Amino acid sequence: MTAIGFLGLGNMGGPMAANLVRAGHTVTGFDLVPEALSAAVESGVRPAGSAVEMVADADTVITMLPGGRHLLDAYRGGDGEPGLIAAARPGTLFIDCSTVDVADARTAATEAEAAGHRAVDAPVSGGVVGATAGTLTLMVGARETVFSEVEPLLSAMGGRIVHCGGAGGGQAAKLCNNMVLASSMIAVSEAFVLGERLGLTHEALFDVMSTASAQCWSLTTYCPVPGPVPTSPANDDYRPGFAAALMAKDLGLALNALRATDTMAEIGSRAARIYAEFAAAGGGGHDFSAIVETVRAREGRT
Ligand code: NAD
Repeated sequence: MTAIGFLGLGNMGGPMAANLVRAGHTVTGFDLVPEALSAAVESGVRPAGSAVEMVADADTVITMLPGGRHLLDAYRGGDGEPGLIAAARPGTLFIDCSTVDVADARTAATEAEAAGHRAVDAPVSGGVVGATAGTLTLMVGARETVFSEVEPLLSAMGGRIVHCGGAGGGQAAKLCNNMVLASSMIAVSEAFVLGERLGLTHEALFDVMSTASAQCWSLTTYCPVPGPVPTSPANDDYRPGFAAALMAKDLGLALNALRATDTMAEIGSRAARIYAEFAAAGGGGHDFSAIVETVRAREGRT
């Protein structure tokens, strides 16, 4: 069994660490927020007093942090404090499960490897429900040999583990997936609003589209209008689910990647702007399917 240091025990990291404990691993955790750490301790995580203390006896370090800046700060340290890379034992396996820029993931891996460690990016999809149930999809950027080594460990947190290439490959797959997800949610929302104005019931339109060529996850799992899919957030006042603020963040990462690769994605860029405006206008705490409300509120022609 593996001795794991787990940094970032928030909404996602907390239940992921609990699943590693359940699988028989020794997990030592740290979070800047004391309540997050004590909640993790209740599920069997051993508390550390700092990130450096957490890493002292670890074979593997897992990070689940808000973004790339937090990740690089944690790896590098600062203000006279060593970072995880310097504090870890030689040859430690670093796994970052946060969602960050492809460029930040590659930088983090390069710096960890330069210090003699092994490094993996493994962002996740599936939300808090998937993190709790251990059914996340993990998209993995890693060298071939490191992937074989890390796959069994990742299986304690996820139901589907996909090798997406070398460093940054996991982040690249994640942002491509979410660019499609955001675009399809907006498209499904526009169809329902148009259908309403043409006199179609939500049920009739759902029955057609869910079995015809418009079929997609945004329609059949997270249907943005109440009724057709009783478990979708639309039936629960758009409580997340997958918060619009997180979608806006992921689309910001997609925009960075589009710029870095000189790629023109007209629909993806427009979706990024729509979600950024929705989050800035106060919608960030709602599920991302609440975007249907902004579509309904739009005036004028296309
Ligand atoms: P969160 O804010 O609930 O958790 C992040 C935790 O990191 C917090 O508890 C915070 O205190 C801690 N933290 C930040 N800096 C730290 C540091 N230097 N040392 C120790 N702890 C530190 O966020 P979350 O919802 O758990 O998301 C984590 C990551 O997973 C994000 O990158 C997010 O984009 C991604 N993600 C989230 C979801 C979701 O549905 N919530 C789904 C997929 C991916």
